[in-house]
Amino acid sequence: MNVGVDIGGSHTAVGVVDDNGNILEQFEKDYTQKEKENLMPVVENYITEVVNNLKKIYKIDHLGIAVPGTISDGIVLKSVNLGICNYDILKILQSTTGLTVSVRNDAKCAAIAEYKYGRNDYKDKFLFLTLGTGIGGAFIYNGKLLSGTNYDGYEFGHMVLKPGGIKCNCGKSGCFEKYGSILCFKQKCIKKLGLSYEISGPDLRNAISKNMKYIQDIIDVYLKDLALGISNLINIFEPDNIIIGGGFARYDYLFLEPLKKELLNSGLLFNNRKDLKIDIASLGNEAGIIGATIS
Ligand SMILES: [Zn+2]
Repeated sequence: MNVGVDIGGSHTAVGVVDDNGNILEQFEKDYTQKEKENLMPVVENYITEVVNNLKKIYKIDHLGIAVPGTISDGIVLKSVNLGICNYDILKILQSTTGLTVSVRNDAKCAAIAEYKYGRNDYKDKFLFLTLGTGIGGAFIYNGKLLSGTNYDGYEFGHMVLKPGGIKCNCGKSGCFEKYGSILCFKQKCIKKLGLSYEISGPDLRNAISKNMKYIQDIIDVYLKDLALGISNLINIFEPDNIIIGGGFARYDYLFLEPLKKELLNSGLLFNNRKDLKIDIASLGNEAGIIGATIS
C-alpha cells in the first residue's frame, strides 16, 4: 500500500492507494487565506498527521508527493504557485513520517496515472494539460513520459502568449497560465459578478450558470486565449489526443465543445485536421494522488 499526496495551490489531498491504482481512503484540506501566507509548514504538518494516522491502519510502503513545480532529486527547485524554491520537501517528509518519499511534478503524476489507469481510450501519444490554479503539462510518447535533459520541462503554462501581458509569478509577462488557467477565468467572473473571492466552487458555478449572458464576453475571451495556447502545442507535438485535468473539468460543459470548434475552424492549426480528440481526465482530481504513487 502506498500513500499519494497532491499539493495544490488551494488545497492538499492525501490518499491511500492500492497496487491497482485504487484510492481506498482520501483526505483533503483547504487552505485559509491566513495559512496561504506561510503555507509549507501547514502542508507538512497536515501530511505528517494524516500519514502517521494511516500507518496505524495500513502497512504503508511508500509516500509519493505531487507538487506543482520543477523537481530535481526530490527538491522543489521552483514552484511559483506555492511560492517556494530550492525546497527539500523529500527530506522533511522522510524525517516526519519515517517512510521512503518520492516527489514529482503534479501534471506529470496525473499524466502517468491517466495513461496507466485512465478510462479514456488513449493512444500512445497524448498531450496532458492541467488547467487549475496554473497550467501544468506533460507529453506521453509511446507510453513513456517525456522529460527534458536538465529539467523536466513541458512547462506549457509559462509559454508566452502575449508579450508584455499580465505579469506571471514566474517573473515573465504574458504567460499562457495567466490567460488559460481556470483560476484566471474564475477570478474574472468573481470580479464582474461582484462576488467574494472566498466563494465556494459550487456557489460560483451556480452564479455563473445564472448569469451566462452577462459574462459571455469573459467566456469568449477565455476560449480564444485557451485555443491559441493549445493550438501552439498541437502544432509542436501533433498529439493523437489531448487530455485536460484540473479544475477545468468542472466547467467542461461551458468550454469543451466550443474549444474543439475554435481549434478546428479558426485557422490556428498548421496542419489540417478533420477531427480533434480532447477529453477530460477520467481520473479527475484523483489523478495526482494516484500518479504520485507510481514509480
Ligand atoms: Zn510564467
